[in-house]
Amino acid sequence: MKPAGILSYGDPRLLVKSTDVTRIDQELSDLVRGMFQLLYMVPGIGIAAPQVGCNQRFFVFDMNRRADPGHRTPVTVINPVISAREGTVTAEEGCLSFPGIFVPVERAFRIEIKGVDLEGKDLVLEGEGLFARLIQHEMDHLEGVLLSERMTRWDKLRLLREIRAIEKKGRKGKYVF
Ligand code: ZN
Repeated sequence: MKPAGILSYGDPRLLVKSTDVTRIDQELSDLVRGMFQLLYMVPGIGIAAPQVGCNQRFFVFDMNRRADPGHRTPVTVINPVISAREGTVTAEEGCLSFPGIFVPVERAFRIEIKGVDLEGKDLVLEGEGLFARLIQHEMDHLEGVLLSERMTRWDKLRLLREIRAIEKKGRKGKYVF
């Protein structure tokens, strides 16, 4: 399956808690490939499966997405579990499903996750800063938790009109990218 696009906030599929991937097969690999094609066309560094309408626990990212194709570092994480977290930091965060919205969100400063890659091999990833933020953001998607739930009440109020406009789009099943 090739993803048709990134779902917009307001689409109910973004609110579903995803289930574990039980089989790494051709269908999954094809979807992952499609998600990376999408990732390199949109202004983001990661895409979680629910954002393309697949409620399974995996996401893709590339911290070097702006690099030329020879220097990119695509990573697929399947069935991730947070195994360590340290400190807190607040910084601006965005989401492809909320185009144009950037809000300060508090996250753990350092994070370690365990999961498996597309070959089914065990994967341990750890890092801090933007990497840690990205991982926590994508993990949220797998729980059906969106940026709108992480922003302060004040930001929600301040951005009410913009958020409502995005939500309207999502309710109609439209894609943002
Ligand atoms: Zn997001």
